[in-house]
Amino acid sequence: MITLKKLPYEFNALEPFIDARTVEVHYTKHHQWYADKLNSLIEWTEFESMNLEEIIMKSGGPIFNNAAQVWNHTFYWEWFIPNSKWIDGNTEISSAINNKRWSFENFKTEFTNSAIWNFGSGWTWLVKNSNGELSIVNTSNAANPMTDGLIPLLTVDVWEHAYYLKYQNRRAEYLENWWNVVNWNKVEELYSR
Ligand code: FE
Repeated sequence: MITLKKLPYEFNALEPFIDARTVEVHYTKHHQWYADKLNSLIEWTEFESMNLEEIIMKSGGPIFNNAAQVWNHTFYWEWFIPNSKWIDGNTEISSAINNKRWSFENFKTEFTNSAIWNFGSGWTWLVKNSNGELSIVNTSNAANPMTDGLIPLLTVDVWEHAYYLKYQNRRAEYLENWWNVVNWNKVEELYSR
């Protein structure tokens, strides 16, 4: 039985960048629906006793789609913080971004463009490989880069349900605002692990 983690803040904590109504609907309807659907699909199957990561690595089809969407959203919520601050200077993630010959501004532009051009529904990720090298990858629908052996460090949901109530079709404006609530300490923690 997979249960959703409680949101680590109030629905309105990310205002004005991500509005309370979007957070509420996204978490209590969309995210919850994936968890409910997953639980109904895995009942009486070999997946019932597995944790979420194991289900993602071992399943396909509707079970994979719902399990990955539960995981992706849990991480998406955990990467938010009100009053985000880029942690420049003596951090491993800022060195890694510089080593990639990105300035922070270049990195943001490249990530944003990748998310803008991610066709249809999906997720855009900052990941590291087993050598600690960074890259930006797009996935479609529920897909998660961990099935390609990559470690997610940051993600943004570009399904329309993530922004439509406030931004309608303006994905670029959602993304521009999204940077204001990214929890860089969490990215640093995952990168330096
Ligand atoms: Fe979503």
